[in-house]
Amino acid sequence: MTAAAPAATSRLYYEPKISVLARPVFAAPDHLDVNWIGESSDGERLAEFAGRLCYMSQHNPASRSTRDYLENIKKQGHGSVLEHANYSLLLEGISRSLTHELVRHRAGFAYSQLSQRYVDESEACFVVPPAIAGDDALEGAWRTQIDAAQGAYVALVAQLMERYGWVTDKVHRRKMAREAARGVLPNSTETKIVVTGNARAWRTMLELRSSEGAELEIRRLAVAVLRVLQQEAPGFFSDFEIYVADDRREAARISYHKV
Ligand SMILES: Cc1cc2nc3c(=O)[nH]c(=O)nc-3n(C[C@H](O)[C@H](O)[C@H](O)COP(=O)(O)OP(=O)(O)OC[C@H]3O[C@@H](n4cnc5c(N)ncnc54)[C@H](O)[C@@H]3O)c2cc1C
Repeated sequence: MTAAAPAATSRLYYEPKISVLARPVFAAPDHLDVNWIGESSDGERLAEFAGRLCYMSQHNPASRSTRDYLENIKKQGHGSVLEHANYSLLLEGISRSLTHELVRHRAGFAYSQLSQRYVDESEACFVVPPAIAGDDALEGAWRTQIDAAQGAYVALVAQLMERYGWVTDKVHRRKMAREAARGVLPNSTETKIVVTGNARAWRTMLELRSSEGAELEIRRLAVAVLRVLQQEAPGFFSDFEIYVADDRREAARISYHKV
């Protein structure tokens, strides 16, 4: 029997880390140019172009700026034109329990997540649950469990590698060990995920997950993603309002529900 290895000193996350990986690049066709008005990003122009094509209104008869045009699209509930604009985000410093909830948002989303079968979690990081963060006693109790779980994981991987020593393909053997040992890792284990979603899909997800009814960690992520996407394309997300709720945490509400 292999002795339990000491737990690695794990790094803790208190906030998610968000990186924008991709945003739309719009190439306006010369033969159908739109009378563009006002400041806008490529994603917003792409959506306006798509919307105007439906009625061949490129001359912009109401003299609307791109953002006013998109405001009207949201008000009217014509959300399908928002589906042309896709944004890819790298999300890090979030827990496995958060991504378990996140990937339930299916329509218009693509996901690629770190594999615990392939990746060694001996030095995994962990996400402190927001309700626990900042209270020394609670954090201490939580930390004790995290360290024990990580120690058990390290020991199990070593024992499983020994148990399946007859498997000659080392990559397969490691996978067998890690996929079994991960069973002891907690929901708070940090993960990384690439999420691509179109603007309509992001709106639906953000509406549900930034609301007061959402779990605190995914709510914190949703508010952070909202801030990033509001910078990227205000025309798609300007009707969200971020506020501090009675529980003293940030939440957001939306004007145009599910366009
Ligand atoms: C506060 C909160 C608590 C939750 N608690 C639980 C829980 O306890 N247990 C649990 O299992 N889940 C829970 N969920 C997840 C929830 O049930 C949904 O799976 C999740 O919010 C994704 O919503 P969605 O299906 O609308 O999203 P998407 O899959 O992104 O779909 C977006 C929209 O597209 C349309 N659509 C998508 N797929 C179909 C389809 N197959 N047929 C018809 N229309 C479709 C619908 O209009 C849908 O609203 C919770 C969610 C929230 C926000």
